[in-house]
Amino acid sequence: MNAFSPQPAIPPRILDVLNLSKYYKIGRTMLPGSGSLVRAVDDVSFSVTEGETLGLVGESGCGKSTLGRCITRLYDVTEGRLMVEGVDITHAGRKELQPFRRKMQMIFQDPSASLNPRRRVGDLIAEPLRVHRIRPPGQIDARVRELMGLVGLPAEYADRYPHEFSGGQRQRIGIARALAMEPRLIVADEPVSALDVSVQAQIVNLFADLRERLGLTYIFIAHDLSVVRQVSTRTAVMYLGSIVEIGLTDTVFDRPAHPYTEALISAIPEPRRAGQGRRERIILEGEVPSPANPPKGCKFSTRCPAVADRCRTERPTLRPLADGRSVACHFPRVPA
Ligand code: ADP
Ligand code: MG
Repeated sequence: MNAFSPQPAIPPRILDVLNLSKYYKIGRTMLPGSGSLVRAVDDVSFSVTEGETLGLVGESGCGKSTLGRCITRLYDVTEGRLMVEGVDITHAGRKELQPFRRKMQMIFQDPSASLNPRRRVGDLIAEPLRVHRIRPPGQIDARVRELMGLVGLPAEYADRYPHEFSGGQRQRIGIARALAMEPRLIVADEPVSALDVSVQAQIVNLFADLRERLGLTYIFIAHDLSVVRQVSTRTAVMYLGSIVEIGLTDTVFDRPAHPYTEALISAIPEPRRAGQGRRERIILEGEVPSPANPPKGCKFSTRCPAVADRCRTERPTLRPLADGRSVACHFPRVPA
């Protein structure tokens, strides 16, 4: 860019998810026409711009992990499209996918699963550098020390084995291994859910710090809304495989438009502030329906405290409100 070219007003889009669906076949899959389909992710669309953190929240089983794994192409997509920096990678083969695999790294709840217990931590972090030839052999040791520094692990720990580390430190090792690939987008799937609350805060701070230092973009998946509120610039709320609301985090948390978002937020424990009453907790009736057999009309209609006739027959699409967020509800709680 030269001195005369205008500054881009909007950061570039790094990811476009277009009408993405992922169905699992369950039951008697060998016989044609038998078994059933679990609509784990059902017609989901959103974009992610560079430098933002998109939080993805929703109860267990709503399809967060499936969506994360489709985005990073760990799972094949059933329908829809996936674009990374404008390139359609929905059906890209192994070879075409290689550069995108490096750009998009996934971090999991339990890093131990991917840490070979018989390898020293220095080797574990060096492995991606070697396998993907990210650094020439002579520079690997220095880069391992650098990566350990970035995630807050003393370089002297390189000779230790995974079992000698705490849960939080093991997550740091997992993050260092992901960073070794020099990604631009990190999909973190419940990265702090298994950690003690005090350790959670340290890892959340590490993510924020790395975003600043390395210019990373995140999709941050969590069922804990207070964690998402803390880390995310935008928040998407999922219910039964669909996004029901998406917008700036403050907008969504301060004035939820979807009755489901409202119920989730009302359940967040909050410290009582002087002079203010407690927010009333909304208890949802009934169970989450099965994604193999979702309700007709609005998927939330069977549990919605504000359900109307129209909701039982006509499925609402995600549409923008005046304040910029989008909501899939016929009767949003804030003005359209
Ligand atoms: P979350 O991460 O939000 O808890 P998941 O993506 O793990 O949700 O699951 C979404 C839905 O898909 C759930 O109903 C779950 O039981 C189902 N599911 C997940 N993985 C599989 C699988 N491999 N085979 C069949 N069903 C699955
Ligand atoms: Mg999950």
